Amino acid sequence: MQHTSMPSRVWTEACFDRDGKQATYLSVPVSTNETGYAYLPIPITIIKNGDGPNVLLIGGNHGDEFEGQIILLKMSRCLTVADVTGTLIIIPGLNAPAVESGTRVSPLDNANLNRTFPGDPRGSATRMIAHYVESELLPRVKYVFDLHSGGRAMEYIPSAVVCDGDDPDLHRRSLALLNTFGLPVSLIVEGSTGGDSSMVAACQRKGVVRVSTEIAGRGAVAKAQMDQAEQGLLRVLRQIGSLSRDMAAEPPGPTRYIRRHALKDFVYSTGTGIFEPHAELGDTVSPDQLAGRLHFTDDPWREPLEIRFKKPGTVIFKRVLARTHFGESVFGTGDVVKTHP
Ligand SMILES: [Zn+2]
Repeated sequence: MQHTSMPSRVWTEACFDRDGKQATYLSVPVSTNETGYAYLPIPITIIKNGDGPNVLLIGGNHGDEFEGQIILLKMSRCLTVADVTGTLIIIPGLNAPAVESGTRVSPLDNANLNRTFPGDPRGSATRMIAHYVESELLPRVKYVFDLHSGGRAMEYIPSAVVCDGDDPDLHRRSLALLNTFGLPVSLIVEGSTGGDSSMVAACQRKGVVRVSTEIAGRGAVAKAQMDQAEQGLLRVLRQIGSLSRDMAAEPPGPTRYIRRHALKDFVYSTGTGIFEPHAELGDTVSPDQLAGRLHFTDDPWREPLEIRFKKPGTVIFKRVLARTHFGESVFGTGDVVKTHP
């Protein structure tokens, strides 16, 4: 018997079929040096009001991406049963140990949740969380909104993101939400940086429409960009029939559709040192244009290494941490394919 087909060891008092608003926890069993028997509590809010779309909202897939966590903490507090049609499942801090430590990966097992699907009910905490999401939550829902940002290392132009998949119908239904999201960039990613182990792949396996975000980053909270993303999410939830009334105060903004390959459109550092960037978010760049210079603190007499863009495109993310290792991405670009309106 494959581990992934075994039942989850995560338990909850939540009842997904009950009308009303429930504020409770997912409990992930752990056994540590401090205690033999314990659980990690992951807060979950379930708001159900009769029939309608079933929707999962996720923040804190990565613990150092904060804007989405705040948006969903607010929705957990403020949304009422009357606001909702169908079922909203809200988890503001999915990888709870990473969220608590403000780090991308979990300090318990050093695992990146978004590279851990389909997970393992007998595995470490992060693997148990991934397994619970794929085996218990995704089969219950039609839509997932997975709110990311650039994290401590990167900054993005606020983007709503759809990944190409094998299922053209799912892809078409995801794309149909981007104009309503109305963020400055609508990013269409060819392939997936996480391959089969990402949440994207899990949603595709379960036939779930998924749109994610990249809101800002720097390990900070960018208020204006966060508000833009919150407004976009409220508009999209209304579009799919999940909210009973218009709750967004703003109409969607103009958006540029940008297509990029998951890994090939990154510019990587080819040395280890201090990276001095020579481009900005939103810049249009050409092949061989200088992306930045890498300085060598252990060899002050050496000329800095010049790192160059390889393809024409528009800069959609940049590295913001100065110390950079060989092989780390410093910029991501993509091709503008259309603008809306
Ligand atoms: Zn992320």
